[in-house]
Amino acid sequence: MSTNLHQDFEATIGIEVHVQLKTKSKIFSSDSTSFGASDNENTSEVSLGMPGSLPVLNKAVVEMAVKAGLALNCHIRPKSTFARKNYFYPDLPKGYQISQFDEPICENGFVEFQINGEPRKISITRAHLEEDAGKSTHFGGYSLLNYNRAGVPLIEIVSGPDMHSAEEAAEYCRTIRGIVTYLDVCDGNLEEGSLRCDCNVSVKRKSDSKLGTRVEIKNLNSFRFIEKAIGYEIDRQIESISSGGKITQETRLYDPDKNRTYTMRVKEDADDYRYFPDPDLLPIRLAPDFIEQIKKQVPELPVAKRTRFQKQFGINEEDATLLTSERTLANFFEAVGEKSKNYKSSANWIMVELLRELKDRKLAIDQSPISAERLAELILLIDSGATNGKIAKRIFEEMWTNPNPPSHIQNSLGLVQISDTSAIEKIVEEVLAEFPNQVVEYKSGKTKVIGFFVGQIMKRSKGQASPDVVNTILLKKL
Ligand code: MN
Repeated sequence: MSTNLHQDFEATIGIEVHVQLKTKSKIFSSDSTSFGASDNENTSEVSLGMPGSLPVLNKAVVEMAVKAGLALNCHIRPKSTFARKNYFYPDLPKGYQISQFDEPICENGFVEFQINGEPRKISITRAHLEEDAGKSTHFGGYSLLNYNRAGVPLIEIVSGPDMHSAEEAAEYCRTIRGIVTYLDVCDGNLEEGSLRCDCNVSVKRKSDSKLGTRVEIKNLNSFRFIEKAIGYEIDRQIESISSGGKITQETRLYDPDKNRTYTMRVKEDADDYRYFPDPDLLPIRLAPDFIEQIKKQVPELPVAKRTRFQKQFGINEEDATLLTSERTLANFFEAVGEKSKNYKSSANWIMVELLRELKDRKLAIDQSPISAERLAELILLIDSGATNGKIAKRIFEEMWTNPNPPSHIQNSLGLVQISDTSAIEKIVEEVLAEFPNQVVEYKSGKTKVIGFFVGQIMKRSKGQASPDVVNTILLKKL
């Protein structure tokens, strides 16, 4: 689409993120929340919504919600209430979802992040507690229902309509994921549905003061799809409006194969749900010292950690972003840096070597066969001059299956670095004799050929010559 058309329009995006809380049992019953259970295994009368069964609130859910609310800079309500959101769907056997309506547990917060170095601040209207519904799977002539998910605790985080591009929306969702995984209130697994993002998108002509009709894109389960789906939707709405069409308020789904959105259903208004306070549940009343206690458990969050890594360790923004993308990775990096006292080298070894190998082996950082301590020892070995980069890579390869200290591995493999001056002198002399033309070049001022000589010498020593000794002797001989 022409960019001219885009210049006349502005997109407005608001996002609802459903975050599955990492509790062992469900929000209103002792049923398990385990993901791998067989169909309908994690159910009881409460999850199945049988008449006469009563919900009992899980305290861990409240603690996690408050923790999330505090990290999202929200006001935590001293009193919040549960409400019934009435609608019929087979995966919701009670005929209503227990949610929160006019008194949500957290409200009026914000999150901050950066896009290409530009700071962004997005308001959080509310973060409320609710139960998840079950799951229907449709086959040709019939459907099957699995209620394992029914009653799994969620917080729904609702942003203000503050975003204006697909890129910004995707970064917002990444930021939310970073926060809830750092807090350890959610496992952050998008494929398993632990984090679901619904995006409300509207466009209007810049000259209009009123927002356009909004369309909701539901069930986006990857950050890349969020960006693509919103990008497509903005284009679709602009095209439609500029060719005289009207946008219908509806819910759409995204098809990643065709990279387009399509109509799922025409959206109900909030009133259709006939919210009313749930008579089975008392209001949640939170004492100030309960909130204070939880405040103490909020760890350093990704954005703060990223800034600190840049300032304290001289790591650039891009690297700091990668190293803080998961709390476990950030901890690993800090542990390696603390022990090796070389944060830059720690960052490089982790980002270039360790993460690549872990990815090939399909392992998470906390499953790394090479511990932070051992990696730090390897870096210390290089920095002490006892080994060089080439040998270190051979030791590193061996470390995946050998838990011994890197210095032991170096000895046992006979990968000892040659620092013996006379042995290196001999190789240097051989190389200089073999390439007289390059020697002339060097003497005429083309000092760059020094790299060529070092390369040749290292090759002949099978990578075992100490680069420092090589450099010293080479300069002397030249
Ligand atoms: Mn919801």
